[in-house]
Parts: sequence; C-alpha cells; structure tokens
Amino acid sequence: AKDLGGGEHCSYEPSLHASAEERRQLEFALRSALAKNELLLNYQPVVDANSERIVSFEALVRWVSEEHGFVSPGKFIPLAEDTRLIVPIGKWVMQQACAEAARNWPEHVKVNVNVSPEQLIEPDFVATVVQALSRSGLAPKRLEIEVTESIFMRDADVAGRALEQCMALGCSVALDDFGTGYSSLGYLRKLKFSTIKVDRTFVQGASQKSAESVAIIRAVVAMADSLGMSTTAEGVETADEAEMIRNMGCTKIQGFHFGRPMSAGDAMALFRAADRR
Ligand code: C2E
Ligand code: CA
Ligand code: CA
Ligand code: CA
Repeated sequence: AKDLGGGEHCSYEPSLHASAEERRQLEFALRSALAKNELLLNYQPVVDANSERIVSFEALVRWVSEEHGFVSPGKFIPLAEDTRLIVPIGKWVMQQACAEAARNWPEHVKVNVNVSPEQLIEPDFVATVVQALSRSGLAPKRLEIEVTESIFMRDADVAGRALEQCMALGCSVALDDFGTGYSSLGYLRKLKFSTIKVDRTFVQGASQKSAESVAIIRAVVAMADSLGMSTTAEGVETADEAEMIRNMGCTKIQGFHFGRPMSAGDAMALFRAADRR
C-alpha cells in the first residue's frame, strides 16, 4: 500500500487478503475464459528499422472478463502460469495467431507468439506447433516463438530440446526482454536465437540520455551482429527514439510510435492501406 502522506500507514493485512481473494476470483473466472470466448488476440507491428516496413506482428493476448472487465496480461499471465492454465490458453493463442497470419497477411510478414516456460516443458508442445502450422497452412518460417531467459531457470534441457525441434521445423526463436532477467551470456550459446529483443527499459534509458543504456544497447547490437542474430528494440514511442535506435544499428523496431497492439481487423487494414499507395 502506498503511504498517502498523512503519516497514517495502513496495515498490510487487509490488502494482502484482498489480493489473495481477488486472485482466487480471477483464477475462477480465467478457468472458463476460453470456453466463454473471452480471450482475443491483438497484434502489434514490428518494422524494419531502415525501411520502416512491417516485417512481423507480435500476437498479444487480451482478456475481457464478464465479471472483471478488461484484465491486463501483466496480471493474468502470471496467474495462468502458476495454475498451468497457460497451457490450454497458449495452445489457443498459437492456433489463432497462425491462422490469422496464414489467412490475412502477406507472405513476407511473420507472426511472433509468446510462449511461457510452462508450455515449453509440456511433452506435446512441439505437436501443438506442428498442428497449428498444418491446420492453418502457415509456412513454418513465418512463425517466430518468443521466449524469455526464464526458460533456462529450470528444465532447461527439456525447453531447449523443444525449441530446437521447432527450429528444425523451420520456425525461428526470439529471446524476449533481453537484459531484464538473470541474464547470462551463456544462454546465447545454448540456442541459435534469430532475434534478441532489447527490453523497453533500455530504450527508455537511452532516450533519457543514460550513457549506460546507450552503451548496453550498442553492446547488445554488436554482440548480436557477430553471432548472426538480429535485434528488435522494444517500446519505441517517438520518432526521436526511432531515429536514435536506428543509428545504434538495431535491425527491427517495435513500439507505440509504429503502432499499438490492435485488433486483427485493424492489422489487416494496414496492408490494404499500404497496397493502395
Ligand atoms: P512482452 O512480450 O514484452 O510484450 C510487449 C509489451 O509491451 C506488451 O504489453 C505491449 O503492449 C507493450 N508495448 C509495446 N510497445 C510499447 C511502447 O511503445 N510503450 C509501452 N509503454 N509499452 C509497449 P502487454 O500486451 O500488456 O503484454 C504484457 C506481457 O504479457 C507481454 O510482454 C508478455 O510477456 C505477456 N503476454 C502477452 N500475450 C501473451 C501470450 O499470448 N502468451 C504468453 N505466454 N504471454 C503473453
Ligand atoms: Ca514478447
Ligand atoms: Ca518483450
Ligand atoms: Ca515483457
């Protein structure tokens, strides 16, 4: 609880209870969210840093609950991970995202799908990917799986093998939120990531003239280059930031400046607008 300044410190007990109770209710609602069609996907463009053309869309899940209204993924994804509800939800996301890309996007545009560690260590994870690709008819090279360093925290071998099998299918794998977790450069030797996603916090830092953030972005870009990996800067919100990031040599850019997460229909409309030009 925030200190509201009156010298009156609220006891932590009631708020803890409230959040445990809220959590219990959210979990209950989340259990039926898929069946009740309360989940949907938004898509956020990722552009080539130089041409500013869309090269991909990242699928981002949204939950509009009958009882709770809009619940942010920052809130329900951790809950879904703790309760393993992320497994069925993740399967739905994978199928939905592949179907959307195959049906409605130009062939050169990829789809990025976030995958949690709990999904990766499921014995049928690779089968889920194979099924999503075959049902949708999406070419495997158009699917990029996004994982964070947390996949290396436990069952790293199982997770690594699953990702290697996906790569063998022709999919690519991006390392998300790079620099925010318990980063170890050793992870970059374990898997042939195609892309390193530089976390938004570094972009914000660089934008506020933090010499450290600038140095870190430059170092990550140089390292990715020599490893044959590309880089995506996350959270680019202004034209100035885009310019700065481009000058630092990032390959791709994602952020509100080029587009917020949007409905499937709005994503599709972007291509129609581009076609008319
Ligand atoms: P993420 O994978 O790092 O996704 C990027 C987040 O940054 C998204 O938040 C996006 O809306 C936000 N973002 C993008 N550009 C900007 C910007 O310019 N400024 C700011 N301030 N924010 C920006 P979102 O959609 O709330 O998702 C939060 C997290 O939830 C994601 O972080 C991801 O870890 C998780 N998530 C979302 N969808 C899925 C999913 O289908 N499966 C799994 N396992 N996790 C998901
Ligand atoms: Ca992501
Ligand atoms: Ca990210
Ligand atoms: Ca994140």
